[in-house]
Amino acid sequence: MSGRARILIVGGGIAGLGLRVALRQRGFRPDLIERETHWQPPGTGIAVQPNAMRVLVGLGLNTAMERAGTTIRRWQFRDQTGAVLCDIPLEPLWSRVGPFIGIERAKLHAILRSDGARWRLGTWIVAMDQDSRRVQVTFNDGSTGDYDLVVGADGLYSGTRRLALGPSEPIYGGQMVWRSLSPLPLPEPDSVQFWLGDGCFFGLCPVGSGTYGFANITGPRGYDQVEGRLERLRARFDGFGAAVQDFLTSLERDDQIHCGPIEWVEAEQWCRGRVALIGDAAHAGSPMMGQGGSMALEDALVLAECLQAAPEVEVALSTFVARRKPRVGWVRQQRLAVGETLRLPPAVRNASLRERGWSTFYDRFKLLTAPP
Ligand SMILES: Cc1cc2nc3c(=O)[nH]c(=O)nc-3n(C[C@H](O)[C@H](O)[C@H](O)COP(=O)(O)OP(=O)(O)OC[C@H]3O[C@@H](n4cnc5c(N)ncnc54)[C@H](O)[C@@H]3O)c2cc1C
Repeated sequence: MSGRARILIVGGGIAGLGLRVALRQRGFRPDLIERETHWQPPGTGIAVQPNAMRVLVGLGLNTAMERAGTTIRRWQFRDQTGAVLCDIPLEPLWSRVGPFIGIERAKLHAILRSDGARWRLGTWIVAMDQDSRRVQVTFNDGSTGDYDLVVGADGLYSGTRRLALGPSEPIYGGQMVWRSLSPLPLPEPDSVQFWLGDGCFFGLCPVGSGTYGFANITGPRGYDQVEGRLERLRARFDGFGAAVQDFLTSLERDDQIHCGPIEWVEAEQWCRGRVALIGDAAHAGSPMMGQGGSMALEDALVLAECLQAAPEVEVALSTFVARRKPRVGWVRQQRLAVGETLRLPPAVRNASLRERGWSTFYDRFKLLTAPP
């Protein structure tokens, strides 16, 4: 397709920003709108896995990522006291794909925005109408625009999904998560660690400037009010070993901790006419594989490639869906399997991780070592 195609990207998260860079590299000049009035991704971290880094290499952003983050070489499962159940080297799996980087989310987003292109903040679509030639959108300020393609990269509660495909609510995944950043370095700063308890786990991931901690508890959906949150979190994990205690002790304020539910979206359709969904808007899942950001970036790259190669939008979108659905479906299956393992009685789960942790882990990720 010609670079003159009018493309609107809705949402300035990992998927939307990644798509914008990938399209600009191919000569397109998309518009991007973001609902928030300021760029404020939550003050937490993210594990950017090698298949995401492969996309970022293609976008020319890998050096900035490696400078701002920490290179992770091992993935560890421990019991809640800190005893190692399995210590998996990442090099044999990912050596031909790229590094595994832990980074603050704010820094990842800033790197994805660093191409100097413009965007419209505080903007969203209130109405959308399409025919065979164009999509006409009305923005919240009353202005309108005509586009050849609208891409909904607007996350779990995607307004684009609702406008194009009708109402569909995310599903509660049965877990609540508390996330925060500490300047405290992790004692073994080349590893991402999962400390497994009974019905809960605590994750620790180095992120360049310190450590990203995430506490995950299985149970009903709830609201944990900000006041007193830190004390409650410390009390809930007081049976955990030293690195978790040190992390929790290093936090000072309730508002350093972000709490929310794990939610899933499984949109059966990712496209309708000239409207497409990518990233969490199309297929958010539980973070059990740490692959949501990778899938968002792979979607962005593949969609840009399809648009460049195809003669028209409809062909590009059907190729995009055909290329992406099997891989995203594979990740969904692996996530469910990890969730089942973590729900086993601790003694059974721990024995299984000691005996087969490495090989199961490699099997879960090996398909993702091939390009998307
Ligand atoms: C607890 C937890 C831990 C995770 N850990 C990892 C990890 O370690 N590694 C990993 O790869 N993934 C991880 N993920 C998943 C990852 O965060 C998501 O998959 C990823 O952020 C999806 O990016 P996105 O751009 O599709 O959506 P989002 O990040 O949700 O971005 C959507 C953007 O669209 C904007 N927006 C929303 N509605 C509108 C609208 N109507 N109009 C305009 N703009 C709008 C939003 O403000 C936002 O900026 C984790 C997820 C959770 C919940």
